[in-house]
Amino acid sequence: MSPHVLILGGTTEARELAAVLAACPGVRVTTSLAGRVNRPGALAGDVRVGGFGGAEGLADWLREQHVDALVDATHPFAEGITLNAARAAAASGVTAVVLRRPGWLPGPEDHWHMVPSLPAAADLLPRFGSRAFLTTGRLGLAAFAHLTDLHFVVRSVEPPEPPMPQHTEVLLARGPFTVADETTLLREYLIDVLVTKDSGGAATAAKLTAARHLGLPVVVVRRPQLPEGADAVPDVARVLDRLGINSP
Ligand code: NAP
Repeated sequence: MSPHVLILGGTTEARELAAVLAACPGVRVTTSLAGRVNRPGALAGDVRVGGFGGAEGLADWLREQHVDALVDATHPFAEGITLNAARAAAASGVTAVVLRRPGWLPGPEDHWHMVPSLPAAADLLPRFGSRAFLTTGRLGLAAFAHLTDLHFVVRSVEPPEPPMPQHTEVLLARGPFTVADETTLLREYLIDVLVTKDSGGAATAAKLTAARHLGLPVVVVRRPQLPEGADAVPDVARVLDRLGINSP
């Protein structure tokens, strides 16, 4: 019988994995999206959209749809669905793999300040100046809302949600970005400090290189920990290894 693989998606890696699995003869692949993004783009294989109703709902779905393997390829900061995936896989006896792109690492010329959360990032900001570039996503801006003396430039794919800081300029854009463009942006907006999550990946890493070239401090929010016992791999090839699937 052909194996059915459910990918929890919302990332570039999930899209790549869906394309590879859909090209494997005899493999059925379904990608699940949360439904947060308006135009998610075409995906290979089947697609379902929307929450499952917690870990129990996901476990039911795995059983009902005869899923053989679950690949959690969600964003490194999508903590809730990752926990649900681990619980649901354990409850239903389905093989589970977590696909996580590696985090970023600072070099000797970087001025990074690692913090555990967005509120901790907000606590640090005033010491670096008055103009911050926030690339932490459209949610969570409330953590910075009390910093009324600072000016924020916020970049996100979809419009950010209030509450947000009083002095906020929004730039809607989707990566990848080049180092030249990021350098121009940091200069033109007179940025004193960059704030980012440790999302990893090449598409949005150019801002870190640009900040290094300009000698700017970067506040980096650490990733949440993976659930205990999670089988995490860094790329699509290793997911295939784990699932025992040969790509054509
Ligand atoms: P989250 O806080 O971990 O998840 C909240 C709830 O959304 C989950 O409990 C689940 O609802 C639903 N959900 C999340 N991902 C889902 C998926 N792939 N398929 C079906 N339901 C899903 O997640 P989040 O941080 O809001 O992220 C939502 C999605 O956006 C993720 O799929 C992630 O890959 C993508 N994303 C997130 C970020 C980020 O910074 N967090 C950045 C880029 C992309 P139920 O409990 O009802 O099942």
